[in-house]
Amino acid sequence: MSASTLWLFGDQLGDHFLPDDPGQEIVIIESAAVFRRRRYHRAKAQLILSAMRHRAVELGDRVRYIRADTYQDGLAQVSGPIQVRHPTSWAALRLVQKLSDRVEVMPAAGFVATQQEFQEWAAGRGKKRLLMEDFYRTARRRTGLLMDGDQPVAGRWNFDADNREPPPKGEQRLDLPEPAWPVEDDIDDEVRHDLQQWEAAGVSFAGTAGPRRFAATAIEAEAVLADFIEHRLGLFGRYEDAMMADDDWMAHSLLSAPLNLGLLDPLAVARQVEAAYVSGEAPLAAAEGFIRQVVGWRDYVWHLYWYLGEEYREGNYFGATKELPDWWQDLDADSVDAACLSDSLRKTRDFGWAHHIERLMVLGSWALQRGYDPLALNDWFRRNYVDGYDWVMVPNVVGMSQYADGGVMATKPYTSGGAYINRMSNHCRGCRYRPGNRLGEQACPFTAGYWDFLARNAEILAGNARLKQPLAGLRRLSDLVELREQEAARGDAAP
Ligand code: FAD
Ligand code: SF4
Repeated sequence: MSASTLWLFGDQLGDHFLPDDPGQEIVIIESAAVFRRRRYHRAKAQLILSAMRHRAVELGDRVRYIRADTYQDGLAQVSGPIQVRHPTSWAALRLVQKLSDRVEVMPAAGFVATQQEFQEWAAGRGKKRLLMEDFYRTARRRTGLLMDGDQPVAGRWNFDADNREPPPKGEQRLDLPEPAWPVEDDIDDEVRHDLQQWEAAGVSFAGTAGPRRFAATAIEAEAVLADFIEHRLGLFGRYEDAMMADDDWMAHSLLSAPLNLGLLDPLAVARQVEAAYVSGEAPLAAAEGFIRQVVGWRDYVWHLYWYLGEEYREGNYFGATKELPDWWQDLDADSVDAACLSDSLRKTRDFGWAHHIERLMVLGSWALQRGYDPLALNDWFRRNYVDGYDWVMVPNVVGMSQYADGGVMATKPYTSGGAYINRMSNHCRGCRYRPGNRLGEQACPFTAGYWDFLARNAEILAGNARLKQPLAGLRRLSDLVELREQEAARGDAAP
């Protein structure tokens, strides 16, 4: 029997984080101080605590579940040497490194490529960009996923051209059954009760407290995956980027939270999706689109977080310093008229979740156009999203959505006027603004905001070849002065 104790963090909850030695003692520490220090979304607090407490029950005598104020207080109750799997944030890594006289850091689990495999891939690139597409192809070759020898199945790596369609015309929602939701139990009741007590004692949470929507155990997560494969995978790639006002979940998997809690092994998830293609249950474009997200994007973001270093989060290419306004901080969707933004904020408020394009091309794009401080925005996303952890938020928010790294992750800022949102959603029909208007009462705040953003940053962006056309368009705008006055007058008010 191992003399050391394995300390599992709250996002290391699946069997693939367990020690090889079945006799090794395990400890899980629930720290109340985490929720006191910052204002988290209720659904996120509910999910994390529920998942940790369910895991403690599953592991029974093998685990000591310590409720303490801080991690340090919890660790003080554990004697002898401690092992920990590589934590998922720089802050947690620094914490365990400080305790190095008794804590040993083991290699990470929960991702497809190892840190060494990523380092080798990155080193082999020389001066070439660390492109996700190339990383993904290497991962496909290494794992054999959707491969036919050394070539991709059907001769194509990428089905983006077949995917990413606008929502189906004339439909209010995709023709899919409601996702299979977890059933809450006594542990969830206890968590709700504890959160209420903390709240009464002064802890503040954001968002509403609806039923728990996301899987908190491996069994629940497997059920969500099976439901996704059976009902929604077929339409996944096709409508991956589309938004529909009456369809909150569309064909998304809802697996990011259980994946990031460590409940599911991403490679095993990808293999199940591959099997659905092989058995004819799912078209290749859909299976490939999904595997690209999990084996490509998710892993790529994890490795970039470490590869780009601790300072990467501080990037602020546009020098954006605006504080997040109260209506945004409070997830006050009802105070927002802009239909697309209101809906994305509503989903954030009610579920602690919105899908990728809502995060990138609505919420992220709005923040970029308005010049919100990227690090404050990162913190907002991390606290309010059920799947939000530092490793995944920093590259996605600071890098991809805010271009605050000056082009490490993206070749141009992800932002657009209302025309894009109008093409990819049915929001504009029910909106008091018009996507084609940039001036006046009905000026779409995204359209006006897009030009205002370009004008504000035209000098910084002048060398970007991908923005040549929009910048030329900007120079031709005859009403730019009025437009900029209009947007300045809008200030921080909810649009
Ligand atoms: P699906 O649409 O079903 O996608 C399948 C899976 O692919 C996801 O479950 C996720 O594990 C993975 N994936 C896809 N894209 C990414 C990506 N860019 N980065 C990491 N994983 C990806 N994802 C998180 O897991 N946590 C976050 O905190 C997070 N923050 C984001 C913030 C912004 C501004 C943006 C633009 C994206 C963010 N994403 C984040 C990525 C993506 O939006 C979510 O993973 C996805 O919306 C979760 O819903 P789903 O599980 O139904 O995903
Ligand atoms: Fe959003 Fe503009 Fe369309 Fe309204 S008109 S839904 S603000 S893009």
